[in-house]
Amino acid sequence: MVSTASEAEERAVESALRPKNLDDFVGQARVRQQLSLVLEASRIRERTADHVLLSGPPGLGKTTLAMIIAAEMNAPLRISSGPAIQHAGDLAAILSSLTEGEILFLDEIHRMSRPAEEMLYIAMEDFRVDIVVGKGAGATAIPLDLPPFTLVGATTRAGLLPGPLRDRFGFTGHLEFYAVEELELVLRRSAMLLDLKVSSAGFAEIAGRSRGTPRIANRLLRRVRDWALVHKIDEIDSSAAAAALDMYEVDERGLDRLDRSVLTALITKFGGGPVGLSTLAIAVGEETETVETVAEPYLVREGLLGRTPRGRIATAAAWQHLGLAVPDHLAA
Ligand code: ATP
Repeated sequence: MVSTASEAEERAVESALRPKNLDDFVGQARVRQQLSLVLEASRIRERTADHVLLSGPPGLGKTTLAMIIAAEMNAPLRISSGPAIQHAGDLAAILSSLTEGEILFLDEIHRMSRPAEEMLYIAMEDFRVDIVVGKGAGATAIPLDLPPFTLVGATTRAGLLPGPLRDRFGFTGHLEFYAVEELELVLRRSAMLLDLKVSSAGFAEIAGRSRGTPRIANRLLRRVRDWALVHKIDEIDSSAAAAALDMYEVDERGLDRLDRSVLTALITKFGGGPVGLSTLAIAVGEETETVETVAEPYLVREGLLGRTPRGRIATAAAWQHLGLAVPDHLAA
């Protein structure tokens, strides 16, 4: 077994590959254009930018965009996440230490506790927090003014955000999966930064297996790099890329082990469905949220899995993809 880079090294490489400004950010043309306008307008008005909500599946660039917003506004960036804010006090501590114009990035904002969410509404709208002192009947709320700041919230599930919170964002950008050609551009830039030689067909092979996701594209590039190093290959062409990725169990359609186990369970354990999401998640030994936010969006996009009111179903293409005979009721 070839030992791959440690997680810390992986994170360091990931951070080195992050585009630092909107011009280097590949794809998402509409979001990029709209965001650029929001930032430009706030610079002209000499005001902090409106609060921004970014939604979309993991790995499409939400954190990267938050960093770019901070860089473009020449403002410091504070990073936290919904699961780290379980009590309103956790949020009060962050908010009360913000400086003027600071960008506060809250990842997985849909996972914040309800009391913290309520505190956030007021902070977003009035730049104020009420600090509660004392307990029970004697408790008093002391209002504390905050300097103007910009909240950048990220969520994989915009639908889970309560309306009042969603409404307080001045701009919402929905990130879409990337086209293969866009992923090729991401890969070309990363290969240059990593000093790797890859042919055009090699880039196309890796991009085609990257599930429309830059983070995955960069990760697969690093795996292919390991493979090429061990096999003493100087320039990575399509067959080297394919051989490497086959070894890492990423198939030619970009499905990884989790995707395939979801489809396999759906077909072999539940006859192709319909089956409820949580039952399906138990069958593959994963959290419901992982199946719903990591595997499902791509399987739906690829037309391999359908969501129906009665549960998840495997499409004819899913049976075919796993090399199984399509059942009569699905064969059109
Ligand atoms: P999560 O929500 O899971 O944290 P994310 O949507 O915040 O994911 P990022 O961490 O921003 O995703 O991006 C993952 C990696 O993909 C980064 O290392 C970055 O280099 C790369 N990346 C993302 N979007 C782009 C892009 N548009 N152009 C170039 N590289 C990108």
